[in-house]
Formats: sequence, C-alpha cells, structure tokens
Amino acid sequence: MVRVRFAPSPTGFVHLGSLRTALYNYLFAKKHGGTFILRIEDTDRSRYVQGATENLLAVLNWAGLAPDEGPEQGGDYGPYFQSERTEIYKKYARQLLDAGFAYYAFDTPEEIEEMRQKARLAGEQPPRYDATIRMNMRNSLSLPKEKVAELLAAGEPHVVRLLIPEDRVFEFDDVVRGRVAIHSSQVDDQVLIKSDGFPTYHLANVVDDHLMQITHVIRGEEWLSSVPKHVFLYECFGWTPPVLAHLPLIFNPDGTKMSKRNIQSLDELPAGKVDPDVQTYINAGYEREALLNYIALLGWSPGDDREVFTLKELEQVFSLERVNKSAAIFDLQKLNHLNNEHINRLDSRTLAQELKPELKAAGYDIESDDYLVRVVELLKSRLHFRKEFVPFSSYFFRAPDAYDPKVVKKRWKNDSEKLILEFIDEISKLETFNKETIEKAIREIAERNEVGSGRIIHPVRLAVSGVGVGPGLFEMLQVLGKERVIDRLKTAVERIPTLQ
Ligand code: GLU
Repeated sequence: MVRVRFAPSPTGFVHLGSLRTALYNYLFAKKHGGTFILRIEDTDRSRYVQGATENLLAVLNWAGLAPDEGPEQGGDYGPYFQSERTEIYKKYARQLLDAGFAYYAFDTPEEIEEMRQKARLAGEQPPRYDATIRMNMRNSLSLPKEKVAELLAAGEPHVVRLLIPEDRVFEFDDVVRGRVAIHSSQVDDQVLIKSDGFPTYHLANVVDDHLMQITHVIRGEEWLSSVPKHVFLYECFGWTPPVLAHLPLIFNPDGTKMSKRNIQSLDELPAGKVDPDVQTYINAGYEREALLNYIALLGWSPGDDREVFTLKELEQVFSLERVNKSAAIFDLQKLNHLNNEHINRLDSRTLAQELKPELKAAGYDIESDDYLVRVVELLKSRLHFRKEFVPFSSYFFRAPDAYDPKVVKKRWKNDSEKLILEFIDEISKLETFNKETIEKAIREIAERNEVGSGRIIHPVRLAVSGVGVGPGLFEMLQVLGKERVIDRLKTAVERIPTLQ
C-alpha cells in the first residue's frame, strides 16, 4: 500500500518547487491507489512565519491537491503538526543515546565559532562538528561520565548529536539519481535535538516517515545530501528506509536559483528571472489545471510529445521513472501557452456560466445564454487568460461607440462606403446567414469590383466591432447575426466618413 507525504516547513511563501513536490506525491498516490499525507514540519521555531501554514493549506486547496490524511483531514497517524509531536522525538533520541548512536554536546555557539575561527587562522578549512574534532569539544564522548551527569543535572544547555561512524560509505538507491554513495567524512554529527528541546528536521523527518509508514519519499534534490544521515538513522533504529526519489531543481531562465528578490510583478520581471511564488500565479489568473500541467512538466515528461494534460490525465500517466535528473528551467511563455490550451479545452457552456457575473458587472447586456455560449466558443481559443474575455468580447454585447482612429486611417478607403453598401445589399438577400454564405458574398463583391477581398473584410470588421483585430470575420458575423450586422454597417457608413 503506497503512502506518500508532502512535508512542507511553514517558513514563508509557497515556492513553485514546493507545489511540484506536492503534485508529484499526489499523482503518485492517485496512480497507485495510495494515500497522500500532509505533514507540517514546523519544529524550527526560528524560521517559523506567522500565517505560512494557512497559506499553504489555501494553496493546496486552490490546486485541488487534497490530502487523504493531514491537519485538516485527521487520520490514524496524527498529529500531523510536528510541533505537537515533540515528546515522540525525545523518546527516540533517548533510544539513540542509550544505544550509543548519539551523544550530548554542551558546546555553546561561541565555542563552536571559536573552534572554526582557530582553523581559519591556521589557514585551514573550518571543520564540521565530526570525527576530526569531536574529542576536542565539550560533549559526553570527551568528558568524564561524572562531569556529564553533573552538567545535565545542573540543567546546562545542550544538544543531542548523531554519532556518525568514521570511514563509512553510505550507499543508497534513488529512483531518479540511481545509486548514490557518500563517504562519512562528508557528513557532520548532525544535531538531532536542539537546546530548546525541539528536534531538527532530520530526526523528526525520519521518525515520522517511519511512524506514518511512508513507503516513498518524493522531494526536492536539495535534500539529497541529507540522505546519509537519514540512512544511518534508519540503521540505528533498525528500520527499513522508504524508497527515495529526489526531484531535479528548478532554475530561472538564466540558470540561476529562483528567488523572490527584486521581483515586483510578472509584467516587469528582471531579465532571465521568474517569480517562484505560487501565489503570484494564482493572483495573475492562471488556470489551476494549466499551472499544474506546467509544473508537472518541470522535471517529468510523458515520454511522447503530448504536453497538455488535465490533473485527471496526469494521475494516469505520471510515473517516477520518467522524472528527469537534469535541472528544469522555468519558461513563462510555455506556461502562458498551456494556459491558452486549457482555456480552449474548457466546455464553452461551463465557461460561459463562470464568466457571466463578470460580464454583468461590466454592464453587458446578454440577450441569451445561447448567444453567450456562441461568443465564448468563438473567442476562447484566443484567450491567454479568462479575464481577457470581457475586454475582447465587448462588441458582441454592445455596438461600438467609437472606431479605432488608427484602423480607420489604415483601412477605410475611398471605396469602402460603396463596397459596404453592396455588402449590405447582398447579405440582406441571404436566407441563411452563416460563415459560408458570408464568405461567398464577400468574394463575389470583390471579384465584381476587381479588388482583393481584404478591401471589404477590413472595413467590415472595423464597422461592426470598432477595432482592427478579432476572431475570423465570417464566423464573427455569423455569431453577431444578420440584423445586428446590417444595423452596425449602416451606422458605420454614416459615421466613419465624418471622422476622417
Ligand atoms: N520540511 C522539508 C521541506 O520543507 C521536507 C523535506 C522532505 O520532504 O523530507 O521541504
């Protein structure tokens, strides 16, 4: 039975990489009929940010990645806030101390800094707290037993450190990275319990993954270097580690690490940078499915050339085996492209209903739901954001009250009035007013007058919409309907010539 977890630390805004981790865990759980767990890793009190947890829950909610177990859902393995589990971690730390896998260290931060400073002065690389120096420091390995007991009894501030064995190679398999080997000389005697009594990430994470029966750990590559400590902890406890999968980093277009510094808005991004904050994309009006689709592709590919997927489709096709090793580059153009693709795939009737309140608020007079659906059907393929619909569609709901002067200058010729009058004549006779009959009428007039059909198309567009761009003219006129088109053409031939 697959059990995976998303284990964010509430330390600020929700990073795109974090949303990707949540998404991949969610997809993996769905694909395998497993359980998706949310665990809030809030034991680092110094990095805790007020409101960050609420933010996180709101983003997950928006994304539709509802956990099966978590702070809001509950579950058999709670509590799901690590800050409510401190007694559990203490118990396991005690177990490590008793078995000799961990030790007490009484060094103050100043003493540790002094040790590093000494090394720097001697022209050496300041050491980690590890086998090379641990016997020179103040801890339960270097001090006599009685002294240690005395210090503990006196309530001397202390931490609990993991005793990393000397000259060991920690080896493990990662679904994405393959076999990884890291020598113990690269690993410090990690603090497991801090002087405030709270556990560090490493202890809490391993204990909880075990107690919550996590089968697969799927998380960002930045955690890969911590794995030796975790592997060793599993060994000390006599537990089997979960399957590991570390996801590639996500970089700015210029190859740098994504950061929120110097970023005001998506419209004025510094060259080569993007905003890592998920909330920015929500606020900008990206489609939920499009953002998820795009994020899914940051580090994973389906193995063929498909790229547009709904969340439901992703649940079917996602696999850890197809996660890439190499870093992903965030590409805003591609996200925008997918946003358009997703809007275009929405059911027009549903989209029309969703847009209606906004149209009403803009004062549009919607003659019928069917008409609105036809307008949506016509325009949706041209929208990058659904909020563009209101400004793009105005002339479908009210006659233009002005004509774009630039377009008038460019498109209204000496013969425009005459050609439009002929066009009015032709379409008045039409029994069926659709894109085919409209096109035919225009071609005939063009031929008769020995001009290109653009000579009619452009002024007609200007006359009915007031602007120079829009969907294909024939379809647009069909949607507007014969009466409305004739009306507007008549008004235009009177008004436009007076504007020149
Ligand atoms: N709390 C860690 C984070 O903020 C979790 C890493 C992990 O999934 O183990 O990303």
